[in-house]
Amino acid sequence: MARIFNFGAGPAVMPQAVLRKAQEELVDWHGSGMSVMEMSHRGKEFLDIAARAEASLRTLMGIPDTYKVLFLQGGASLQFAMVPINLLRGKTRADYLHTGEWSKKAIAEARRFGEVNVVASGEASGFTDIPAVSDWRLDPQAAYLHYTPNETIGGVEFPFIPDAGAVPLVADMSSTILSRPVDVSRFGLIYAGAQKNIGPSGLTVVIVREDLVGQALPGMPIMLDYRIHADNESMYNTPPTFPIYMAGLVFDWLKEQGGLAGMARINERKARLLYDAIEGSGGFYICPVAKACRSWMNVPFTLKDAGLDEAFLKESKAAGLLQLKGHRSVGGMRASLYNAMPEEGVAALVDFMRDFARRRG
Ligand code: PMP
Repeated sequence: MARIFNFGAGPAVMPQAVLRKAQEELVDWHGSGMSVMEMSHRGKEFLDIAARAEASLRTLMGIPDTYKVLFLQGGASLQFAMVPINLLRGKTRADYLHTGEWSKKAIAEARRFGEVNVVASGEASGFTDIPAVSDWRLDPQAAYLHYTPNETIGGVEFPFIPDAGAVPLVADMSSTILSRPVDVSRFGLIYAGAQKNIGPSGLTVVIVREDLVGQALPGMPIMLDYRIHADNESMYNTPPTFPIYMAGLVFDWLKEQGGLAGMARINERKARLLYDAIEGSGGFYICPVAKACRSWMNVPFTLKDAGLDEAFLKESKAAGLLQLKGHRSVGGMRASLYNAMPEEGVAALVDFMRDFARRRG
């Protein structure tokens, strides 16, 4: 069996140790005589699995007791709607930072439920930079401020947490959650689709301050109200049981990496290796993103000669380096370096890039 290095943006690489563990436990989980995917979500075994996963996430991220952790479905895309539905709380306006494709989608969805004030937009820079804080037009009456700490497509990552004053801060952390420590108490709500740093797709994690729960817009489907999920420990209906189990295994693995501080050191090293290779290529490879906000998780780059794109993709694939094609909206290449991408994977990519540039440059 040969494993490739998977640089896909999500669903993405999983830690091999986690896959092995799941394989060992797949048919007969801990002597229960059944697979986790066959268990009742109301049975003792699964309730333990879910409670352990939540406890591990709370430990890893240092989530205060005043926050609910919800295991939902519908992806981050459903949160684009659930956030305004639940957090407008009688107000009419919400603040949004527009820094790329994913914040654009969040804004479009929020407009279905209320008025959106675009605090600042990265459009002038082609979404390669974060607009200067001094230019932000924050509305002190906003119901909340939403931003995208890491734009998965553009590769723009906030090196700081925005200061929203008394306005609750909401973050779509889909592609950066668990990549480094974060002060959860600065946020009103954090959400993330699982399929990058948490586990398989099908699970969405929501971390929400308790006082923001319970004021959903009237007339909405009950499944879109955080309260029903908070009151029922995410078991109002059948939760995504197998992804929750896998997420729990990933959380255990993260603890073995030294928690989020340990993971951050590894992630910074991996990112530096790749950005240094791009910078040191004499212009053969170009990263369009401003240096101060280059993502540790998603690294977009182009080749000086786009005519070589096809050869780059073909030869990198032959070298066992997969899913390097950039998002269709930006072209070029993108290497996603999520937690589970081993350092050897990045080293192999950098070796390949140097060799390719030497042969084709
Ligand atoms: N937000 C961000 C930052 C993302 O990267 C993605 C998926 N790539 C989404 C939202 C959409 O997530 P989902 O497919 O889980 O709805």
